[in-house]
Amino acid sequence: MNKLIHTSLVESDQHVEILQRDPSSPLFSVKTFEELPLKRELLRGVYMMGFNRPSKIQEQALPLMLAYPPQNLIAQSQSGTGKTAAFVLAMLSRANANEKYPQCLCLAPTYELALQIGQVVRAIGKFCTDIKVNYAVRGNRIPKGTVLEEQIIIGTPGTTLDWCFKHRILDLTKISLFVLDEADIMIDTQGLSCQSIRIHRALPKNCQVLLFSATFKEPVRAFAERIIPDPIVIKLREEELTLSNIRQYFMVCQNSEEQYKALCNLYGSFTIGQVMIFCQTRRLADWLSEKMSRDGHQVATLTAELTVVQRASVIQRFREGKEKVLIATNVCARGIDVQQVTTVVNFGLPRDLDGEPDFETYLHRIGRAGRFGHRGIAFSMVENETVELVHKIEEHFQTTIKQLDPYDMDELE
Ligand code: ADP
Repeated sequence: MNKLIHTSLVESDQHVEILQRDPSSPLFSVKTFEELPLKRELLRGVYMMGFNRPSKIQEQALPLMLAYPPQNLIAQSQSGTGKTAAFVLAMLSRANANEKYPQCLCLAPTYELALQIGQVVRAIGKFCTDIKVNYAVRGNRIPKGTVLEEQIIIGTPGTTLDWCFKHRILDLTKISLFVLDEADIMIDTQGLSCQSIRIHRALPKNCQVLLFSATFKEPVRAFAERIIPDPIVIKLREEELTLSNIRQYFMVCQNSEEQYKALCNLYGSFTIGQVMIFCQTRRLADWLSEKMSRDGHQVATLTAELTVVQRASVIQRFREGKEKVLIATNVCARGIDVQQVTTVVNFGLPRDLDGEPDFETYLHRIGRAGRFGHRGIAFSMVENETVELVHKIEEHFQTTIKQLDPYDMDELE
């Protein structure tokens, strides 16, 4: 197992390079960052990040996003392919550092994602010293009457609406670039899409709109059409990368206790990289984290009931490597980008209300282990009666999920 993870890690940088030269991969790119219309400070920022060449979505979307006159765009490409970096470059290119008022507005479905996008802005914008960011998120209280001077505002739809219409500190009529990230999640989440539409309605007519989504199914299409009547659509094949760079295994267990034992067997092998364990319910996540802690394992838990400050600090600690294991419910099945995550465990498979496999959540969960083409491993612990779901997932993604004996990890090597 260690050997497996180790080899994956050592090989992974090379793997990205190869993928980027493979025309069928979403990371393929013929262009260099220099060929893109980026200002010098941004090129320095990109190279500081360690990016050598643009990903496919970056290569295709950036020239359009940066064109004059500004164009509206819908970009779909699976999670981990560089979308955030792409629209962050667009915001940093469009923001005029000399003007001290909000010009770019980016909406994300969760507090964590909003902060994460802000971190990318700060990292890529390291040399754009006069461009500032503020966050329209719960807990960030701005006194009434404040005049916002930050050029970039990143927020969740609810708080952004409050800032605009209740506190009246954010003037939407001066926004020239509007980014909607994770549009598919916005649509799935009650309220978020209505709030986004209300915000969009208050924007000036000529405001450039960029919509990003990991999927482009009918609801996303319908939503996109409402806010972007005549967009350019860039679509990359879904699911292409995620499953090719992640080895998938499953183990059959009788019940949660046995799943737990299997997990402990695995845990002994987690010495390299970090692990995310997904549970379908908060109760299960709490149960598991209590049990693991009692057994002396150091774990962090991320569930929706934590306060925003607690959630941010859990993610930050995990990102810094203070905990090796993060137990989570679906709140962070997607979007959260921690490159060191090499292993994902499904403590039970994600299912929809009809008990069928939730393919998308499965994909996004295991995608946490394969950021930007890095290799990863995913384990699913399933109960006897749900083995059928594993086969449905295999069929849906045309992939292989290998069975393992939960008590014999040697099989892995
Ligand atoms: P998405 O928004 O599509 O989920 P991100 O923009 O978060 O993807 O990128 C995923 C990971 O890949 C991040 O850790 C990011 O720093 C890295 N990344 C993005 N673009 C590049 C690039 N051109 N070269 C190398 N790494 C990149």
